[in-house]
Amino acid sequence: MSTGLNRFGEIDPPARLMMGPGPINAYPRVLRAMSAQLLGQFDREFTDLMNETMALYRAVFRTENQQTFLIDGTARAGIEASLVSLLAPGDRVLVPIFGRFGHLLVEIAERCGAEVHTLEAEWGCVFDQDDLMAAVDRVRPKVLALCHGDTSTTMAQPLDRIGRHCRDRGVLVYVDSTATLSGMALPVDAWALDVVSAGLQKCLGGPSGSAPITLSDQAAAVIRGRRHVEKGLAGPNAEPGAGVRIRSNYFDLAMVMDYWGPDRLNHHTESGTMLYAARECARLVLEEGLDARYRRHAIAGQALRAGLEAMGLNLYGDPAHRMANVTGIWIPDGVDGEAVRRRMIHDFSIEIGTSFGPLKGRIWRIGTMGYNAMRPPVLTTLAAMSACLTAEGASIDPAAAVPAAASVFDQMVPAL
Ligand SMILES: *Cc1c(COP(=O)(O)O)cnc(C)c1O
Repeated sequence: MSTGLNRFGEIDPPARLMMGPGPINAYPRVLRAMSAQLLGQFDREFTDLMNETMALYRAVFRTENQQTFLIDGTARAGIEASLVSLLAPGDRVLVPIFGRFGHLLVEIAERCGAEVHTLEAEWGCVFDQDDLMAAVDRVRPKVLALCHGDTSTTMAQPLDRIGRHCRDRGVLVYVDSTATLSGMALPVDAWALDVVSAGLQKCLGGPSGSAPITLSDQAAAVIRGRRHVEKGLAGPNAEPGAGVRIRSNYFDLAMVMDYWGPDRLNHHTESGTMLYAARECARLVLEEGLDARYRRHAIAGQALRAGLEAMGLNLYGDPAHRMANVTGIWIPDGVDGEAVRRRMIHDFSIEIGTSFGPLKGRIWRIGTMGYNAMRPPVLTTLAAMSACLTAEGASIDPAAAVPAAASVFDQMVPAL
């Protein structure tokens, strides 16, 4: 029988330089880790690797939280697991929105049946923490849920004071740090944040498909109050919590904690391949050192911005609150943004980002993250942008970008 399916060849994707807002190129060491042999989920060798991964991510999140592990799924799985486990129907949640991912938190919280209160900042801006504190005092939510870096607008919300304010009032804080973990400082314990989740495909330099998460003892206790062990698994420790059962089975963090904890109560089958990837991502972060890593992201972002401005482009958003690792750029008048992106792929095999919602067709987004937050990818991208913009008829200075960015690297890190 001839199906024609034999013409589908072995996987052999082109070598792209992925300079969008994520996913980005994975560290080769992460890809190698993913080709390691699989193990049974209760094999001692495997549970040791799970425990090591918990310890590694405690360091990455800068926390002592016992409950630090992985959710199997993309970053959105970490967000959904957090909200569905924290929010019972009718619970009040406050969501400050400063871009697309704030709207996503609202949508998920609504699906949880929560009573959702919102604050909105204009796109390109963030909130003053004093205004957030005043809103927390006014609304008195069970949970404050917000984004650290919202890649849709490339803005980073300051979070150093809000957590303490909330903790003093018994309000739990959830933070989506997908786009910033290991790229910008987010010391979970020092900032008194309760639940923080992320993904691998941004600053951590891995593939999407695993969501590191950490929960404070307070948050873990609230979630355990809703613990309802699956019937077929119920042993002597299966006394149900008094709280309403969590509406999702897959994202029931009470059950996921039992699976990662000493009882190893079966839930899903942890993905060995993604565990290896997440573990290697964290090892790379800690070998480099968190502070060195934040600095490398800051320098790469600064060099990129210097190059873009030298070329004559205008940067998007409030300069005081830009993410270190994703930059928004106004598409110049008369230039077709999509034509430039197509040319970048066709001529240079470089991907840069488009944008969503109110910014669609108006800005490009360029990421300088993880494996790509280094001199060669940044200079290569600027050289290619100069050529593609010139070819598309933009009036820019094509010779200025690379030297301007190179001089930032030269001044900041002679060795990078
Ligand atoms: C990239 C990103 C996500 C992505 O979620 P996925 O499920 O991994 O696609 C979530 N939140 C923020 C802030 C992001 O930047």
